[in-house]
Parts: sequence; C-alpha cells; structure tokens
Amino acid sequence: MLPLTSSRLLALWEHGAPRHPLDRALLLFAQAAPDIPAEQLADRPLGECNAALMRLRWSSFGSRVALWLDCPTCGERMEFELMPDQLPAMQQPPESVEVAGQRFRCPTSRDLARVAHMVDMELAADQLLLGCAGNSEVPGIPREQIEGALESADPWADLSLAFQCPACGRDGEAGFDVASYLWEEVDVSARQLLNEVHLLAQTYGWSEAEILALSPARRSAYLARVAP
Ligand SMILES: [Zn+2]
Repeated sequence: MLPLTSSRLLALWEHGAPRHPLDRALLLFAQAAPDIPAEQLADRPLGECNAALMRLRWSSFGSRVALWLDCPTCGERMEFELMPDQLPAMQQPPESVEVAGQRFRCPTSRDLARVAHMVDMELAADQLLLGCAGNSEVPGIPREQIEGALESADPWADLSLAFQCPACGRDGEAGFDVASYLWEEVDVSARQLLNEVHLLAQTYGWSEAEILALSPARRSAYLARVAP
C-alpha cells in the first residue's frame, strides 16, 4: 500500500471536497486499491472498500487511530485509541451469502447510494436488503437474520466499537465510519499543506510543485526558519 504523498493528497482533497461523502469514499477507494478498475469500485462489497481505506490510512498517517465519542447519556467526552488488533481480521468478503435458501449480495457503495436520500432508517434498511436480494420483495426471512449473515460474511462493512462511559457507566456500541474519518484527516492535512506552500512560496518564490516535492523533513526545516 503506497502512502499518500503530499501532491496526491492535495489532488485528492481538491477533487473530493465538493462531493458527496459516498463519492469521497470511492475516491479514497481508488487511491487505496489502484488495481481495481474505476468502474467496478462502486460494486465492490463495502467491507472491501473500508478495509482498503484503513490500510491506506495506516500507511499514510500511521497505525494509531485516535477517536473520541460524547456519551449519549451524560455528555462526557471519551477519548480512546483504536489499534489494528481491535478490528476484525481482513478478508475478502464473498459476493453473496445464502440465508434460508435465498441469496443476498453483500451491500456495495452503489446499494448505499440508492437509499442515501431516505430519512426513515428502517425503510432504508429494508430497501437496501431488497436491492441485495435482487427481488421486488424480500421473502419472509426476519431482517435481523439476513443482516446477521451479511455482517458475519463482511464484518468490515459496518464497523462498530464497544464503549463504556467512565462517568456514568453507560455502555453501548458506536459506529465507526472509516471513510469519514480518513476524509477528515485528508482535509486537515491538505489545509495544513496549503498553509505551508503559501508560506514557503511567499518567502522563497518556489512553485507549488517544487514545495510539494520536498520531503516532509526538509519542508519542516525550512518552515522552522520562516516561522520559528
Ligand atoms: Zn456517560
């Protein structure tokens, strides 16, 4: 997995900033999995996308993932670090699973896009499964059973983390959206890079390309001289 270089990161940010979060996730997926043809990315299982994004994150920003969560009961802010061994093992999800004799595709970004406009989450979940069943109606199988089977087959599709609030004792699970998390880091890093380019270009008259081509260590050394 090649880490994002300064110039790739800035180009990614420029293309992704005005887009919908689902499109940003696909842009990140394209960076993370350059061997997959672009037209196939939206039809890959969500877990394959999320796992590739996590590998890109680790190679670009390191394996320490800092997270925070406000307790839904008392508002206490909980901060923790997510280590790689706390996440499910990475495996290629199957294209589909069988539940009570019916086949269901593992959900993809295209499936999510179909229901992204829906405000009723229950209805959206039903529609998602309908799309995955390829039918106009889901046969009489309990939704939990289908969701459980899909989750076991593709645990990276919808990551959640267990928490317990140290202040009030509330415990529960919180979703972890790899694409949003990584995009946030890309956004912060891109703005930082733009500041650095601005300062160095102003001081030395170098072009953006010249500044981005500097190694991070060399760029920091010059920046320390410009704004100690
Ligand atoms: Zn609490």
